[in-house]
Amino acid sequence: MTTIDIPAGSPFGTDNLPYGVFSVGGGTPRVGVRVGDSVLDLAAALGDDVFAAPSLNPFMAQGYDRWVAVRERISALVGGDVPDAAVHAVADVALHLPFEVADYVDFYASEHHASNVGRLFRPDAEPLLPNWKHLPVGYHGRAGTVLVSGTDIVRPSGQRKGPNDPAPVFGPSARLDIEAELGFVVGTGTPLNTPIAPDDFARHVFGAVLLNDWSARDIQAWEYVPLGPNLGKSFATSISPWVVPILALEAARIPLPGQDPEPLPYLRESSPWGLDIDLVVEWNGEEVSRPPFREMYWSPAQMLAHMTVNGASSRTGDLYGSGTISGPEKRQRGAFLELSWGGKEPLTVKGEERTFLLDGDEVVITGTAPGANGGRIGFGEVRGRVLPAD
Ligand code: CA
Repeated sequence: MTTIDIPAGSPFGTDNLPYGVFSVGGGTPRVGVRVGDSVLDLAAALGDDVFAAPSLNPFMAQGYDRWVAVRERISALVGGDVPDAAVHAVADVALHLPFEVADYVDFYASEHHASNVGRLFRPDAEPLLPNWKHLPVGYHGRAGTVLVSGTDIVRPSGQRKGPNDPAPVFGPSARLDIEAELGFVVGTGTPLNTPIAPDDFARHVFGAVLLNDWSARDIQAWEYVPLGPNLGKSFATSISPWVVPILALEAARIPLPGQDPEPLPYLRESSPWGLDIDLVVEWNGEEVSRPPFREMYWSPAQMLAHMTVNGASSRTGDLYGSGTISGPEKRQRGAFLELSWGGKEPLTVKGEERTFLLDGDEVVITGTAPGANGGRIGFGEVRGRVLPAD
């Protein structure tokens, strides 16, 4: 038997306990929990085969009461002796996509981001379209191209046409960008015609991840009218390998910044809440932005309520993104489109001028939140490097 050492100030203390899927030495992937700099093999530690699966889906499908009970068992276990064979150094494991993604929706819930993009894409019109403060705007993305952190991103090719070009051309995107977001993972869904009220969020949503919605702005600008994003987004969405339980984010709950006009009744919560989560965006190792999730206009619970209010079913593994997280300050913007103001105001990154991503560039997004023990809990990172177009 052994005990798991948790370094002082670790963002993976007992108040976090995020779940992931790992393998050792090319073995079968299975579910583990991150504790300090270790991974606890849950099938070995708890003797429960639901954790021998190569995804979190079977465990998530067991529902809220099991999520609470297992978290309590892990907390108790981590404080005492665990079998040697159940503990691995995080440096010795490979991390995999933590859940099988069912449907994927991406929202657009930051007023600062939506306003900035409105000014850039429609300079002669109101920045926010008339629907924006009445419903969480979103679109359906491509679940099959959600990738785990560390997966290389091949520069996409597609059609683009500048406003003064006589005709569209085809080729590699010249305006490849990121969007720093949070993603929410549905643990237990609902059948057709069973909307989820905002107050029922915590019984349905299992956890949260960091999400990078890679975006080809030139492809997007030409294709998005009138039905929204398609190939400019669908080539890749990266997520962090650790799913932070919603149960670990209680201490991060804060009031929403305020909604005016008051949303329609199906979007109202008894106590509207957001999350005090800080993201950091690094471009080739240099910090370029600190997007604050606390500034988001629409809450995660309202997004879920909106997604199901028309009777659409939801299921285990559904993923929905918050939309780019941008704050009021320039260095709080979660996309390079906004940070470089459409490419007109280049950033200096490691001594080089940047507007959009060049081949070989690497982006790392990290995130932390207040934990129940008074310190900060970590989301880990979502990392991706750009490879040249095929
Ligand atoms: Ca997005």
